[in-house]
Amino acid sequence: MDYDPITKRPRDLRLPPMLEDYDASRRSFSWDQVERELAWLPGGGLNIAHECIDRHCQEGRGDKQAMIWVGKSGEEERYTFEQMRVETNKFANVLKSLGAKKGDRVFVFLDRLPEIYFVLLGILKAGCVAGPLFSAFGPDPVRDRLQDSGASVLVTAPELRKRIKDVLPECTDLKHTLIVNKDGRSSDPLAAGDISYEAEMAKASPDFAIEPTTRDDYSIMHYTSGTTGKPKGAVHRHNSVLHQYATGQWCLDLHEDDLYWCTADPGWVTGTSYGIIAPWSNGVTQLIYEGGFRATTWYDLIAKYKVTVWYTAPTAIRMMMKVGAEAAKKRDTSSLRFMCSVGEPLNPEGIFWGQEAFDLPFHDNWWQTETGGILVANYAGSEIKPGSMGRPIPGVEIGIIDDDCKPAPTGEEGDLAVRTGWPGMFQTYWNNEEMYQSKFKEGWYITGDRARMDEDGYVWFIGRSDDVINTAGHLVGPFEVESALLEHPAVAEAGVIGKPDPIAMEVVKAFVALVDGYEPTEKLRNELMRFARGKLAAGVAPREIDFIPSLPKTRSGKIMRRLLKARELGLDEGDTSTLEDD
Ligand code: AMP
Repeated sequence: MDYDPITKRPRDLRLPPMLEDYDASRRSFSWDQVERELAWLPGGGLNIAHECIDRHCQEGRGDKQAMIWVGKSGEEERYTFEQMRVETNKFANVLKSLGAKKGDRVFVFLDRLPEIYFVLLGILKAGCVAGPLFSAFGPDPVRDRLQDSGASVLVTAPELRKRIKDVLPECTDLKHTLIVNKDGRSSDPLAAGDISYEAEMAKASPDFAIEPTTRDDYSIMHYTSGTTGKPKGAVHRHNSVLHQYATGQWCLDLHEDDLYWCTADPGWVTGTSYGIIAPWSNGVTQLIYEGGFRATTWYDLIAKYKVTVWYTAPTAIRMMMKVGAEAAKKRDTSSLRFMCSVGEPLNPEGIFWGQEAFDLPFHDNWWQTETGGILVANYAGSEIKPGSMGRPIPGVEIGIIDDDCKPAPTGEEGDLAVRTGWPGMFQTYWNNEEMYQSKFKEGWYITGDRARMDEDGYVWFIGRSDDVINTAGHLVGPFEVESALLEHPAVAEAGVIGKPDPIAMEVVKAFVALVDGYEPTEKLRNELMRFARGKLAAGVAPREIDFIPSLPKTRSGKIMRRLLKARELGLDEGDTSTLEDD
């Protein structure tokens, strides 16, 4: 492809005209245009896995590389779309042979191995609902999600299974546990009743007729945290591929010959919507790295594989900034032509640093688990306003509204809301339709974020309207952490807040009141931290614990986290009229 030397963007754009004329395309755009570009199933159905894999094989792109996988120790595996087609077919057959039916929930608790991609897409081919679980989770989050979803099949790995072995018997809907033992990394025998993924795949047929799902059939569910109660399973449908396919072009600027790297894990929505569906529905080759963050390793990967489009997160950018731009400049990262970021506010310094280290700015965009895809973005073809999340995508109305759902005046703060009916919109919270309905008001979906919109239509993030914590781009519900702490015999009450942090944006901080007879010692503090880490995940468990005699509560007994936070930050305590008397 012929690239413009200044913008580094291909001259031969096959993008919708919006990047050239954003306003005009927002006026004239209709989703029919995108519908026409998808392949659809014979008979008119829609299946994400068909759009991502089989269509490319049918249209003569089967030999193109879909995935370049790099393992933790630098080992490499490559898969073409045709090889992906066969592996995903085989896994769909494995599921069928185990009796899985359309609509059954199949959960996946795996590291970023090639197999997680075969499994997730195979689940979709079989018409089942995929539930990816972040592999850093401890036993409690895994149990809660398996129980709530009623998952009947779990696909995991030997080490991860060991971590959750005590809670598996509590997941009574689970019928089958499949174990992926990548390259025989574990020499442990299979636990009684477990099934070997490798043995089943070896027997499975490479042919599979994709379940004729409709656009409204459920596809993927991701659990997300709210202020109250346990995390809720936001359920998506196959129709979301329209959204992910289109925004892959508009917001990530994906082109046919790109080498794309999304650093998110499929346990989170970015890792499925933009780590699977957007790139592969566009037929783009992806780099997938099993390992975690290490600035120099990341730069080496970009240089070695000539990554062109890179989607990462502000916490990673801030961690790279800490290492300094020199390390990046020492490598040849000139293949990069577009970089974007999501998940938390991207400070303007991060954008400028990108320019310094890679000769390119980071483009921030905004969305959330419930939206299924990007809704606000800084586009490749238009001006970035540093500190702003960008402008709404075509075909979607974003509102900044007041309590009566009236638009807030330009530049003023309000609730960030989305007019219902966009293609990636979640369909329900699993088993919690009431909570789902509570998110909608007068035709708007209320996102829980506060923002303002300027006179050019750029949206500026202000904060959350609730107590949900955003740590390193992951939402943590305080209730989940408080519940885990309360299980320790020494804890009488617990209140959890997000404490500002220069790298992770917020870290989880807990305030604990002890049961009479327990002393607030350093030893107990460490024990509680270990206890919470053992149940939750490293990033979710509290990083700090303060002991206090009792927690501030409303007269109705609700912990006033707002007050805990104000006290922590030395801020004005605001309205305390509902505070209970001590
Ligand atoms: P999740 O559902 O876990 O993907 O988290 C979504 C939440 O992350 C949003 O509701 C925001 O609070 C936050 N978020 C996502 N993208 C951005 C962004 N670009 N700027 C600021 N906050 C963001």
